[in-house]
Amino acid sequence: MAIGELVDGFGRRLNYVRISVTDRCNFRCTYCMPEEGVACLSHRDILRYEDIAFLCKAFADLGVGKFRFTGGEPLVRKGLVPFLQEFHREMPHIKTALTTNGSLLEEYAGELSQAGLHSLNISLDTLDPEKFRQITRIGDIGRVLAGIDAARRAGLKNIKLNAVLIRGFNDGEVERLLEFAEEHGLLLRLIEFMPLEDDVWTKDAFISGEEILSMLPGGRWIKEDGGSKEDGPAQYFVNEATGRRIGVIDAVSNHFCKNCNRLRVSAEGGLRTCLFSENETPLKDIIERRDADGLREALLAAARAKPRCWSDVKTGTLHMSGIGG
Ligand code: SAM
Ligand code: SF4
Repeated sequence: MAIGELVDGFGRRLNYVRISVTDRCNFRCTYCMPEEGVACLSHRDILRYEDIAFLCKAFADLGVGKFRFTGGEPLVRKGLVPFLQEFHREMPHIKTALTTNGSLLEEYAGELSQAGLHSLNISLDTLDPEKFRQITRIGDIGRVLAGIDAARRAGLKNIKLNAVLIRGFNDGEVERLLEFAEEHGLLLRLIEFMPLEDDVWTKDAFISGEEILSMLPGGRWIKEDGGSKEDGPAQYFVNEATGRRIGVIDAVSNHFCKNCNRLRVSAEGGLRTCLFSENETPLKDIIERRDADGLREALLAAARAKPRCWSDVKTGTLHMSGIGG
């Protein structure tokens, strides 16, 4: 392994970084943020695009090969698409990905495709317009469905559909979501409901990855071997009879920590080495000073201190919208 790559104290190579470009969102999903939204950061408090580019270059020099941009809702931040286009021109060998609620995709899908986006994750928990409104509080499912169509028409590749599975809410929709994904050429991933927004998470609403698997329709689902680490913590299964694929992300009940290759950066430039930990390394000042050596040292030091497993850390109280999922 080359010296100067991001490797933690447990030998894990950290080559995937998720960057939240905003804490703002045009939805208010009940499991992600409070009804009134989160106190919005001012523009002064968040990294500018040129700061993000400087940070990404530093990460890339340390062996990071993929960046996922997320939020809040990343597409509500003005200038994201030109940023991604410039990013692709400057670092065409680096993969970029986006996680979005899909509501603004109709507008941006074409330009995102031109920006060389490697993969796109769209969050959609239910296909029922009423339930969609209930879970997002203010979202319009029509906009998301139009966004999905636009993404496909624009030729965007590797589109995944992410649904958080919640008992009593959408646990009866697995088959319908699978069919929808298949009809639209998307890969469905079912996600365990994580206890991050304290008011809404309950043990009863939680469905473990194991139970999710037992709920899959149509006979035997066989676990795929290996899979790309870039796929993150999802485990993929294929249906023996139909060849349909599905991903399950069991962040709560499974301990995929031993293969964790990721780091997260908040909109304010706080580097987190574990989703569940409240420890952050503030990078904004170093980045704004354009202190390349200081930044490199800070990244290496934070990587070395990455916790072995989330069960070892003091869990934080941030809403998911502040961490980017
Ligand atoms: N706004 C974008 C979106 O919704 O895709 C990106 C940010 S959002 C925080 C990223 C992902 O986190 C979404 O797929 C969302 O469903 C997921 N998420 C948020 N809160 C969650 C929770 N408590 N448990 C599991 N997943 C959660
Ligand atoms: Fe917004 Fe995404 Fe959180 Fe929903 S899950 S409130 S769309 S950031």
